[in-house]
Order: sequence, then structure tokens, then C-alpha cells
Amino acid sequence: MAAFTARAGRPPGLGIVLVGDDPASHLYVNAKIKSAAETGLHADCSQLPASASLPELLAVVERLNQSEVHDGILVQSPLPDSMGADAERRVFDVVRPDKDVDGFHPVNVGKLVQNRAPLVACTPSGVIEMLERSQIAIAGARAAVIGRSDIVGKPMALLLMHRNATVTICHSRTANLPRVTSQADILVTAMGRAGFVTPDFVKPGAAVVDVGTTQVTDRAVVERLFAPGSKRRDAFGRRGSLVVGDVHPDVANVAGALSPVPGGVGPLTIALLLRNTLRAAEERLAAR
Ligand code: NAP
Repeated sequence: MAAFTARAGRPPGLGIVLVGDDPASHLYVNAKIKSAAETGLHADCSQLPASASLPELLAVVERLNQSEVHDGILVQSPLPDSMGADAERRVFDVVRPDKDVDGFHPVNVGKLVQNRAPLVACTPSGVIEMLERSQIAIAGARAAVIGRSDIVGKPMALLLMHRNATVTICHSRTANLPRVTSQADILVTAMGRAGFVTPDFVKPGAAVVDVGTTQVTDRAVVERLFAPGSKRRDAFGRRGSLVVGDVHPDVANVAGALSPVPGGVGPLTIALLLRNTLRAAEERLAAR
């Protein structure tokens, strides 16, 4: 960051757009702004009310597209239902590809398919970073990804394939899911189903990366997952809610490595967002 700031005469800039009052979205955006400030990156947030229309949102994105001081643009999900079912896709389509630090623009997705994307979706990139830093061999490994969304599952599978894993993509229509996933040396779960992945889904010794995050308020779910007297159950007793991953805690007895929720993929996603913003800033500076 410091080297870019010295060369450019300003820090890399990230423009975040937040629509509505979803408390979780506000928390995520605050975490991103705080992390940016800690690394010397400038991040600001344009807020729109939940009643804002899609054209109003697109106008804010267009302003950031034209801005000289914003190198990256992030529109926080989810958008209000009133904007329509395809609102997120329409927003991704108008963000300038060279400022698309989420890696969701079709141009960047197409380049990812060809293994030449300058900006790649942050969460799957964070998973790769986690596997590589944990020295888990990807090349030659069998990998299974549960989830096929545009923002996590599909780019995740592509990144693993580009690193020479043999990848199976699983989804809600996959027949006999545990039989498929228990073949995998690397299992990435991105479903959003609290504690769904039980030990029978996992090959003994496999590396399991839990991307799922579900806010649980149902006591019965917490009691199914966490033993009486455990820290997590006590935390639920105090707060009345708990953030839980897709992976059942008993998987820790089978897996060779397991990422925690919270505290695993989430913080890495933010780190990769900042790295993408710096990359976008450097590319724009070099293109001048
Ligand atoms: P999504 O768009 O809802 O996709 C969920 C995927 O899971 C779909 O492909 C769905 O299959 C599959 N699925 C659902 N139930 C299933 C079942 N019973 N068996 C097999 N597959 C099933 O969600 P997303 O946006 O990809 O996010 C996934 C999770 O990751 C969520 O919990 C989200 O909060 C979390 N997330 C975390 C971060 C982070 O920074 N930590 C970032 C992004 C997302 P179909 O396609 O057949 O419906």
C-alpha cells in the first residue's frame, strides 16, 4: 500500500455501496472499512435507503465508475427484494471490469474460465490462499465443492481445477451426496445449511473448508450441534443467536484439517478484497 501511495500521491481507493438496513450487511461493511484503514487503503461507503430504486443504485455505481480516486467498487449483497430478482446481476454488469474487485463482472468471469482473470472473486481466492498457506496439496487431489453459485461455488471449482485438482461440483440435485464428497481429499462447502455436513460426508484425513455462514436463532439447531456446557452453546444462551458453518462439529474427529466458522474464510475474504483493490489500483496507474 505504502509503495502505491508514494507513487500515486494517494492511497488505493475502494467505493462500497450499501443499500438498506440489513444489520449483518452493516457489520460486514464496517469490518471492510476498518480493515482497509488498518492497511492504509481508503474505503468509503455510499448508503442508499431500502426504498431506493435500481436506477438510483446504478447511478451511484456509474459515479464510482467515473471516479478518479476509487480503484475498486463493491456493492454489498443482498440487495432489497424490491429491486427485482435479477438486480445483483444487473449491478455486476455495469461495474467497470477494471474496478470489479469482487470479480463478478461477466468479463472477469470469462477470463477466470480461461485462467487469466486479473480480479477473481474474493471468497474462493481466500480458500485457495488458506489451502496453500496450510501446505495442502491441490495438484492431483480429488476435490469436491458443495454449492454452484456464481459468487462462491463455480469460481471455487474453477480455481481448484486451474491448480490441477480433479473437481466434482455438487448441488441440491446431487444424488447420494455423502458418497460423492467422501471421495474427496479437499472438501469445500458453500451451502448455507447449518451443520449439514456430518462425518459420513468426509474422507478420513481430508482437508475441509467451511465457507457457509448461517445465523442460527433456533435453540433446537444449536442443541443438535453443540454439547451442553460447550462454549458455543453458552454463547447462544447469552446472545440468542449464533453464526454457524455448514460443517457439523463432529467432522473435526475425521478431517485432517478443518477451517472454523466464524474466523476462517470470512476474514480471508476481506484480506483478498483489499489485495484485489491494490491490484486494480496498480493496473489503473500503470495504464495511464
Ligand atoms: P447460494 O447462492 O444460496 O448457493 C447455495 C448452494 O448450495 C446452491 O448451489 C445449492 O444448490 C447448494 N445447496 C443448498 N442446499 C443443498 C443441499 N441440501 N445439498 C447440496 N447442495 C445444496 O449461496 P452462496 O451465495 O453461494 O453462499 C453459500 C454460503 O456461503 C452461505 O452460507 C453464505 O453466507 C456463505 N458465504 C460466506 C462468505 C464468507 O466470506 N465467509 C462469502 C460468501 C458466501 P442448488 O444450486 O441446486 O440450489
